[in-house]
Amino acid sequence: MINCPKCDNETRTSALQTAAGEVLLAGTLSTDPQPIVAQVCTACGYIELYAPQPLQHAEPEPATAEQQPVSPELAPAT
Ligand SMILES: [Zn+2]
Repeated sequence: MINCPKCDNETRTSALQTAAGEVLLAGTLSTDPQPIVAQVCTACGYIELYAPQPLQHAEPEPATAEQQPVSPELAPAT
């Protein structure tokens, strides 16, 4: 729980929404732009902005699989 730094009331997690979608923060903590997290005080309306949490973007990079070249040589049957 994050309390408001102004009045010490509860804050709610929200997001910055525009008509075009969420406001993204580009490539500081992760490679892809992620939505900015807004903590909005329920009492005074103060808003704190947080960078996207890296935990929410915990998808591992797909490791390049070992690709063995397809051998054009066909083993003789006999
Ligand atoms: Zn407040």
